[in-house]
Amino acid sequence: MAHLLQILVPTPAHSNLRGPLSYTSEEALPQGSIVKVPLGKREVLGVVYGEAQVFEPESTQAKAYNYKPIGAHLEGLTPLGADWMDLVEFTANYYQRSMGEVAIAALPAPLKTLTGAQIQKKLKKWQAQQTQADQADATAKESSSNSPAAQVHRTLSTEQEQALQTIQSQEGPFLLFGSTGSGKTEVYLQCIEALLDQDPQAQVLIMVPEINLTPQLEQRIRERFRRQLRPSAFVTLHSELTPAQRLNAWLAAHFDHAQIILGTRMSIFASIPRLKLIVVDEEHDASYKQQEGARYSARDLAVYRASITRSKVILGSATPSLESWYHTLETRPSSIEEGPAKSKRARYLRIDMPSRIGDAQLPELNRVDMNYQPKYTLISEPLLKAMREKIANNEQVLILLNRRGYSPVLYCSGCGWKSQCKHCSAFKVFHKADRTLRCHHCGDTQRVPRQCPTCANQDINMLGLGTERLEETLKEALSDLSRPGQSGVEVLRIDADSTKTKDSLKNQLERVHRGEVDVLIGTQMIAKGHDFRRVTLVAALEVDSALFSNDFRATERLFALLMQAAGRSGRDANFKRDSAPELWVQTFNPQHPMFQFLKTHDFPGFAQSQLLERQGANMPPFCSQALIKAESRTQENAQRFLNEIKALSHQVIVGLVERGLLASDEDIFIYSPIPMSMRKVANVERAQLLMESKSRKHLQLFLAELKEVMHTSKLNATTVQRWVIDIDPQSL
Ligand code: ADP
Ligand code: ZN
Ligand code: ZN
Repeated sequence: MAHLLQILVPTPAHSNLRGPLSYTSEEALPQGSIVKVPLGKREVLGVVYGEAQVFEPESTQAKAYNYKPIGAHLEGLTPLGADWMDLVEFTANYYQRSMGEVAIAALPAPLKTLTGAQIQKKLKKWQAQQTQADQADATAKESSSNSPAAQVHRTLSTEQEQALQTIQSQEGPFLLFGSTGSGKTEVYLQCIEALLDQDPQAQVLIMVPEINLTPQLEQRIRERFRRQLRPSAFVTLHSELTPAQRLNAWLAAHFDHAQIILGTRMSIFASIPRLKLIVVDEEHDASYKQQEGARYSARDLAVYRASITRSKVILGSATPSLESWYHTLETRPSSIEEGPAKSKRARYLRIDMPSRIGDAQLPELNRVDMNYQPKYTLISEPLLKAMREKIANNEQVLILLNRRGYSPVLYCSGCGWKSQCKHCSAFKVFHKADRTLRCHHCGDTQRVPRQCPTCANQDINMLGLGTERLEETLKEALSDLSRPGQSGVEVLRIDADSTKTKDSLKNQLERVHRGEVDVLIGTQMIAKGHDFRRVTLVAALEVDSALFSNDFRATERLFALLMQAAGRSGRDANFKRDSAPELWVQTFNPQHPMFQFLKTHDFPGFAQSQLLERQGANMPPFCSQALIKAESRTQENAQRFLNEIKALSHQVIVGLVERGLLASDEDIFIYSPIPMSMRKVANVERAQLLMESKSRKHLQLFLAELKEVMHTSKLNATTVQRWVIDIDPQSL
């Protein structure tokens, strides 16, 4: 007997084919089965959705549609679980994409390209490898049974103990709000240990912003669970794995062989049938938001996935996102009109760990008012003096500057020429090492001109400071200094330019950890997560642009960055030093209110002030936003397209009000199209259209309807090269 199957296939983002497609099959394959099916001229991967129906070839429907039969069924792969299907469906609906696109993008690439038989072979090989690795480990463990047990867990501090108990006794979701160095990681690890003791089959997903930035974490986890788990029960999932490695890790999780899955945002879509706990470390980090395809927030999906699988979820941060923070407040006025009288219960349970482990102190804030420094000062005298003291004392200094290259702009004092990129609305950056001008957006590179390209003036000036120049300046300024027992002062720069080759980041970080480096210069990539033991001074340069940005989240991000950076300093209570840890900021705006909160390490105060501001201006989290972005050869075309969408939106809203689905046409607000802040990249003009509503539900309803109408209306998308919807955009 033949059957009719609904199958999710990778349909293009904006095509009319959004739901599953029908195919015939001899077998009534269960939901979640992975198959190959013909689509147009190609054969693609598909996932069975819903229940099979009996197929009657003689029915009028069958005759009318001429269904095609499925290709291979990948038999060795057990079907994907109902929770996975649910997650995919939710993601597709919420982020306005097709289910097939989300489902297939979430599966490892080799499944798409290999034939059924090849996959069977891979599976067998994989299983043999796992068994072998685990046997080898078991033998090793036996023969070393009297060596010290691998990493016994630590005695928890009172705060950690309380956090652990709360997580074990309550439902969550939990927001673990712990200072940098308060031992959040230890809490995650002990939660997992307790879970595995109680349920030895359980699977855990630990998400981190970027794995390569914190290689220590992977090591720490591996060693920690040697007692409870086979070595192959630990896998990582991130974009830098080779396709084969990724397939193996994916299979390990899918066959519940892997029990700890450490991954970046993409790992939220791993198939994890026995999932019991999700940890989202540094939950505020922007890299949890996917920037292409379905623009999902892995953090938000983690909360959803936990709810449908009845898993616990811990979001951890020293500087939570204002969204998450808002969800922990018991009295959350949902809008200004409704006022604080109408309150909601908190959605997340907040757990505080304000103290650092041991006696480790949080650093003191020093602001250098750059208005009183000589013009063109790069590093102010007081900061330099403080650095010299630390170095002389054998302590380390970390300097954050979020601009790589030597100088961000070159300009001619004769005619005003600037090193503008021809293809982008950005300047080309001067890189001294290879004497080039490079655009960091489109990659266009040229040799640095010897004279002004327009007026032949020989006197070309540099504007501003990049990491290369900072490195050079500091090497010079500190050249007279030597450390006890060492030769000169060691200055190391870590940024995207210095870490291009494989392992270079790892090697550079190891040098810092070994204490070979006195001054570490870097972009924000070094501000996160590292446990630099001997750093006692952290300085941040050029922070002012973020204080007055058009993007309302810029201050929040800067505050988080500075708090995180501050957290790199003074982490080791046992590290003997005479002076307290210090955080330095050079700024032209020392009176900015943010610094008051930074000075007292007062995240709750900062969050409160930001939330009040956002409430007053009716910005997220007090409203939900969606952004439609369009790209075209000309700005005019991009905006014209968005204006058509705007007009269509008004029709949709009126329709929804008429049908009683929206209370009023003021429920949804549509702004006017504007150029994006990076208006042009690689000769493509970009514009955006912002839409918002106080109700997330209403916005969802509206967007779903809008997409529908866009498909049926004669909207002229030919003048744009690309357009996308970004739900809950993280930058404007
Ligand atoms: P966080 O993730 O909150 O920044 P970590 O978990 O990395 O903090 O802990 C900071 C430091 O304190 C680490 O070096 C860690 O090994 C140590 N640590 C954490 N908990 C304990 C504990 N209970 N006893 C001793 N040291 C601890
Ligand atoms: Zn000139
Ligand atoms: Zn460019």
